[in-house]
Amino acid sequence: MKGSPTLTHRLSKRLGQNFLNDSQIVDRIIQALDPKSNETVIEIGPGRGALTAQLVETAGAVVAIEFDRNLIAGLLERFGSSRNFKLVHSDALSTDFCFVIKPANQARLVANLPYNISTAILQRLIEQRSCLTEMVLMLQREVVERIAAPAGSTDRGYLSVVVGAYCETEKLFDVAPGAFRPIPKVWSSVVRLKVRPRIAFAVKDEALLWRVVSAGFAQRRKTILNNLRSAPPRLQELIKLHGGASIVLCQAEVDLRRRAETLTLEEWARITRLLE
Ligand code: SAM
Repeated sequence: MKGSPTLTHRLSKRLGQNFLNDSQIVDRIIQALDPKSNETVIEIGPGRGALTAQLVETAGAVVAIEFDRNLIAGLLERFGSSRNFKLVHSDALSTDFCFVIKPANQARLVANLPYNISTAILQRLIEQRSCLTEMVLMLQREVVERIAAPAGSTDRGYLSVVVGAYCETEKLFDVAPGAFRPIPKVWSSVVRLKVRPRIAFAVKDEALLWRVVSAGFAQRRKTILNNLRSAPPRLQELIKLHGGASIVLCQAEVDLRRRAETLTLEEWARITRLLE
């Protein structure tokens, strides 16, 4: 394939291009997803097609979203003749997943995600969860540890609470840097996120829940009481309207001295319900 666009393509550091170069890891990711012949699978960042090749063989339809225009010709050359393959040349951060999977209404998603935008992509996936049922994602190991961190763990942060609210999380396995080319500096992990049919603890105003959680985590070394006391003005006003931060926390049965990372989603929901 001398001179093919795939081989002459210059790596983009900005796009987090660490390509999978280990067929055993590719197999393990595909086995974890277990694509079915009657379903649509989205792949974010097909790159040189390490995962795509097996997806095209097994899934009913594959929608691959690639941002790097230098990779498009290579992908089309390799998979363009497969009737179940659709290539979308766009930025996954602004792609409407529900639209690109049509005529399907729902899809599962697999991705070896660019590390530099993994948090932003996770938020985007959560926003678009109405048409996603499950995701198998390779991310930097620290990000997976943060996502999977239970209440009480120092790794727990805003992202853990958001992902846990909308998805069941299962860490699958770690991947050593040597599985990629170029070799990254960090370890990776593969995680399965199963989208819950509804948020784990219902509140009337989900936007308010996320304002409360975000304010609670604003300064990690401060207690939940102090963080809520210095919440952004609109939220502070709302808290004052309900008697102030200490009253709200007492009513929600949350000890004032606790830190945000110790709160369960149910406790965040209890605080939010008092403010609705
Ligand atoms: N899936 C391939 C593999 O496992 O070898 C490539 C993985 S590489 C870590 C990340 C891929 O995502 C690259 O192909 C990169 O060009 C692509 N990418 C980066 N940012 C993107 C974005 N915002 N939208 C879609 N694709 C993106």
